[in-house]
Amino acid sequence: MSERKVRVRFAPSPTGPLHIGGVRTALYNYLFARKQGGDFLLRIEDTDQTRFVPGAEEYIMESLKWCGINWDEGPGKDGPHAPYRQSERKELYRKYAEQLIESGNAYYAFDTPEELEAMRKKMEAQKVNAQYDATTRKEMRNSTSLSAEETQRLLASGEPYVVRFKMPENQEIVMEDLIRGTVKVNSSLLDDKVLFKSDGMPTYHLANVVDDYLMEISHVIRGEEWLPSLPLHVMLYRSLGWEKQMPAFAHLPLLLKPDGNGKLSKRDGDRLGFPVFPLMWNDPNSGEVSSGYRETGYFADAFVNMLALLGWNPGTEQEIFSMEELIDTFSLERVGKSGSKFDPAKAIWFNHQYLLKKNNREVAQLFDILLKDKACHQPIEKVEKVVSLVKDRVNFVHEIWDQAHFFFIPPSSYDEKTVEKKWKEDTPDILKNLVEALQKLDDFSVASLDKALHDFMESTGVGAGKLMIALRLSLVGAGMGPDLKEIMAYLGKDEVIARIENAVNKLGK
Ligand code: GLU
Repeated sequence: MSERKVRVRFAPSPTGPLHIGGVRTALYNYLFARKQGGDFLLRIEDTDQTRFVPGAEEYIMESLKWCGINWDEGPGKDGPHAPYRQSERKELYRKYAEQLIESGNAYYAFDTPEELEAMRKKMEAQKVNAQYDATTRKEMRNSTSLSAEETQRLLASGEPYVVRFKMPENQEIVMEDLIRGTVKVNSSLLDDKVLFKSDGMPTYHLANVVDDYLMEISHVIRGEEWLPSLPLHVMLYRSLGWEKQMPAFAHLPLLLKPDGNGKLSKRDGDRLGFPVFPLMWNDPNSGEVSSGYRETGYFADAFVNMLALLGWNPGTEQEIFSMEELIDTFSLERVGKSGSKFDPAKAIWFNHQYLLKKNNREVAQLFDILLKDKACHQPIEKVEKVVSLVKDRVNFVHEIWDQAHFFFIPPSSYDEKTVEKKWKEDTPDILKNLVEALQKLDDFSVASLDKALHDFMESTGVGAGKLMIALRLSLVGAGMGPDLKEIMAYLGKDEVIARIENAVNKLGK
């Protein structure tokens, strides 16, 4: 038998912004496809029109693009199975629902919401699990309990109906999952799920299975929350006569809260102060704005690297992976069975590593955008120098400003605690003498400044502790920062002298 071509899909429903767990699912699908030389599809599952959220589909696509998760087939990239948006494939599903009815695997159900509610109440009173299944089906209004004539009459009269799957009674359904192994469930525990609605739309289950079949999907890699749907999906493949073409399944463990158990939610992000969405999301209904990794200042490659390791491990100590390296190393065998706790500090660590890894020019160009906003223009070579001096102290490009603003603007205030402790009565005189010495210095390079400061301390007997902190306060406004000679060399003689004189004037004795 010839090997089946690997074809996987990410199949989000555009019901809101994509959670980072969803991005991870897309990423694993993408890595798997690339590693196997297969295809990665994006399919928009928008059959539930009541849950449609404007902007969500665009958001999903923009998120994937930001991460570099590019689809081979999908919206905007039509392939042999277009369209890839289920609402545009609407006409296609009805015949499969009908095929299932004809083969006795599905039936028409005419129950009104009131009748369904009455059934639920009755079951509850009898303390049995209320579900539409082999035991309750006969008591309900459907084509298994009504005569063929009555069913036809109701259909012809335009009575609203749904099509339900006829889940067999007491049958052991055995399924294989690439991550969980063999999974078994007794069909009596399952209900007769709705497959097709009276509005002419299929439900998720039918559309998902039909499309996976038609799009020749070889592996379904999706979140663990879909594991309970697997028995129905397997039964659908069997009932439609597609068992041979049935994809392999891999259900990914959940992303968990950083503290405690349970699925990582938007609320955890709000509570602990980290984004749970890749991009910022402006909710069109509530007007609420949720933060995103991109807008928070994360590099896309750092974000992807961090996500890849939440649930998958390479089996080595290596933590930093480019997309290419992830593709080379990824395998479903190394995806764990248990959920992974999301670690916000680790996410920041990844960004820091990527910041260190990037060359200074690239970081300088990003920081330059922020400098322009602040109307602090400097030649890019100079910005690059600043970046090299403070890079290891920051996690995000925008934090460079906090560590380096004094390279661009003179201090407007002086750290009070340092002033109190280190600005002594004789400090202004010491600094005035220093200005005199600096005035004579032509070469303002780091080496020359180093020598000049040493000579000054030697000839005046002023200790380094005293001189350096006062000087730093004058230039930076605080008691900490990168190497002082580097700062002086960067600012140049005139600016250094101006700042010292300014500090002496402002702080006095
Ligand atoms: N539309 C489903 C979702 O929103 C897809 C689940 C699947 O991959 O089968 O997650």
